[in-house]
Amino acid sequence: MAQWLSGTVTDNHHWHANLFSLKVKTDAFSFTAGQFVRLALNTADGRLQRAYSLVNSPGSAEQEFLVSTVAEGKLSPMLQQLKMGDSVEISQPASGFFVLDEVPDGDNLWLIASGTGIGPYLSMLGTHPLWQRFARIILVHSVRTVADLAYRELIAHYQHQYPGQLHYQPIVTREAHAGALDKRLPQLIQSGELQSACQQSLNAKSQVMLCGNPDMIRDTKTTLESLGLKKNLRRQPGNITVEQYW
Ligand SMILES: Cc1cc2nc3c(=O)[nH]c(=O)nc-3n(C[C@H](O)[C@H](O)[C@H](O)COP(=O)(O)OP(=O)(O)OC[C@H]3O[C@@H](n4cnc5c(N)ncnc54)[C@H](O)[C@@H]3O)c2cc1C
Repeated sequence: MAQWLSGTVTDNHHWHANLFSLKVKTDAFSFTAGQFVRLALNTADGRLQRAYSLVNSPGSAEQEFLVSTVAEGKLSPMLQQLKMGDSVEISQPASGFFVLDEVPDGDNLWLIASGTGIGPYLSMLGTHPLWQRFARIILVHSVRTVADLAYRELIAHYQHQYPGQLHYQPIVTREAHAGALDKRLPQLIQSGELQSACQQSLNAKSQVMLCGNPDMIRDTKTTLESLGLKKNLRRQPGNITVEQYW
């Protein structure tokens, strides 16, 4: 049964009207980069809890979450309103298998996210095994608007720290942005435009992690399978490892 840690909000950074990063101070706890916890609030309608990926890397003094506000959602609009000093509970232990230990070796590692699905990858970027295991890491972030491209400074910091090892490829589908691609992921992969923009191969020797919305994951997975990549299962290692947010 899940245990709960009491947390205190230390920051709520609003990237835009419906995207925010919540920082929460708790007693220290261990987790593996890529895992998630549940955040819970006691509300007038009772206790509400939902899963959120940890954005910070293990060992940080605060836990951090990148959350999009779902217009008709129950918990996310309440999390958006939290202010410094407010309380939120965090489930223990952290859960999930969307971690590098579950990913076989490969020529390169594609970390593909839609929206807030970039969170687990940001956590992984702060861990040594990622950089030791993969000579080339390609972080692909697909969003609707430029304002959704959160954490660009942090990503640039890692690019500076590991020159030539990390390629960051934004995809912005609803407005033009220099350096960003503008089509849906399956189309970009099928045509080879993504691989060419990143100057990296995407084939049965690659490893691909997919995180975010269910449509993106389903359609991208189907396209990858048409290129000969296979779903990664414990009993049958493959290339595609998936975390679906809803
Ligand atoms: C393993 C895991 C990790 C997750 N990590 C994150 C995270 O890091 N950041 C994050 O923002 N969310 C994350 N989620 C989604 C999160 O748990 C909630 O589902 C989301 O915040 C909506 O909760 P809600 O109570 O506001 O909406 P609800 O009242 O629960 O549901 C409203 C409906 O909105 C849809 N929905 C859910 N999430 C979204 C979304 N992001 N965009 C559009 N529609 C959506 C679903 O169809 C859902 O039925 C994760 C989910 C899982 C399973």
